[in-house]
Amino acid sequence: SKAKLFDENTDVKTSFKDVAGLEGAKEEVQEIVDFLKTPEKYTSLGGKIPKGALLVGPPGTGKTLLAKAVAGEAKVPFFSLSGSDFVEMFVGVGASRVRDLFKQAKEKSPSIIFIDEIDAIGRARGKNAMSGSNDERENTLNQLLTEMDGFGTNTNVIVIAATNRADILDKALMRAGRFDRQIFVDLPDIVERKEIFEVHLRPIKKAEDLDIDFLARQTPGFSGADIANVCNEAALIAARKGKKAVNKQDFLDAVDRIIGGLEKKNKIIT
Ligand code: ATP
Repeated sequence: SKAKLFDENTDVKTSFKDVAGLEGAKEEVQEIVDFLKTPEKYTSLGGKIPKGALLVGPPGTGKTLLAKAVAGEAKVPFFSLSGSDFVEMFVGVGASRVRDLFKQAKEKSPSIIFIDEIDAIGRARGKNAMSGSNDERENTLNQLLTEMDGFGTNTNVIVIAATNRADILDKALMRAGRFDRQIFVDLPDIVERKEIFEVHLRPIKKAEDLDIDFLARQTPGFSGADIANVCNEAALIAARKGKKAVNKQDFLDAVDRIIGGLEKKNKIIT
């Protein structure tokens, strides 16, 4: 059976309300929402709608979430794929799969294509001779560039890509008419952590002693994904103890557990 090339979601429920903090990034992607919703407004004076935007930032900071929210806000289909899966799964056929993806996205336009971990496909060409042949990856990358260049002015497919390694990307990707807009998505500060906690505490039964300011203070360096994890862990810890609501101590235990996990991850890397 054929492995799946990409996910297609034609009814995205994610909205900007689900994305906490990231005010600057949200403002920038609001433009993309407007381009998708009322392209005529923007092309009426001869301007061309951008084809691509690159979300740059550390893991777990909400890049995928933000891209999805753009689709949800604009009410357009969301085609998504991961660069690393792509390179592993489609040896020999990467380029033709890219062609399929763009064909489908164009048929359903206005639409968004989201490529997570674009660096797996888009590393600078000709710089990894050590790892053997990289023709396959380069063919895939070239096809991606060809597809983006081939969009007519009224195609209205916008490609959003995400990376935490913008420095290693092939400069050809960033050229005008491709991913010429870079949007930075950083780790949350204390105020943003509080907002992210608010989002992820919504579905949780909270005990009286829970204090969101305190939680935000206890979690410097945490990403949005880490905070989502803390909330979930805390709820599981409390449930395991047969509690009726999740309290401060459950959160502290969850924070410890996540910090333990983060330390382990860092050990493996170093
Ligand atoms: P990666 O680079 O690892 O793919 P990412 O930046 O794409 O990470 P997401 O996959 O969007 O991160 O985030 C994972 C989860 O973390 C989200 O589904 C959400 O639950 C939570 N999260 C991350 N950032 C935020 C945020 N700003 N607001 C609310 N939730 C967030």
